[in-house]
Amino acid sequence: MIGSLYRCRHVRDNSAGKPTMSTTTKALLIKPHHFLDVIKLFGSGLERFVPNLEYGHDLWRVGNEILDNPDVQLELTIDNDAICAPCRFNGGSACSDVASAHVTGISKDEWNKRIDQRLLALLGLETGARLSARELGRLAKQKLAPEDVFEVWKEHPIEVTTKRAGFLMAGLQKYTQR
Ligand code: SF4
Repeated sequence: MIGSLYRCRHVRDNSAGKPTMSTTTKALLIKPHHFLDVIKLFGSGLERFVPNLEYGHDLWRVGNEILDNPDVQLELTIDNDAICAPCRFNGGSACSDVASAHVTGISKDEWNKRIDQRLLALLGLETGARLSARELGRLAKQKLAPEDVFEVWKEHPIEVTTKRAGFLMAGLQKYTQR
């Protein structure tokens, strides 16, 4: 359980003019491309994530939670997420890391937002959408074809994206059978 990574939301029923009910739901805040990174690595054969000492981010913790518990609730964002929380490049709502080695002229945060917005459009989802990891995996398997991966990551070299597409499709296949 990784309770510190969850976002709580208080839901109030205002239908009678004042709050009559208050419940708390929890969801793991995640960027769409981070979720797909987890699934891609799973498709490459990785079964267990370990801490990344260079960045200090929580990919390992969030990745293991997604693999261990497909029922975990996710909330989609294009801003910094649960993986970013302890990262040395977490600049608040934005990533302060330099741009991807494959893309010049924009910051890494702009790049991340660009690919996440493309993914949200393909998935038919918006930021703030909540669904389980299993549901998101099934939706991605249904909506994303290999050619979509090439469109989302079109600025990356074709050989890099070819690997990504192969591992991602394999990961979605394996994950949605869980
Ligand atoms: S803060 Fe930036 S480098 Fe760190 S995990 Fe988030 S997106 Fe990656």
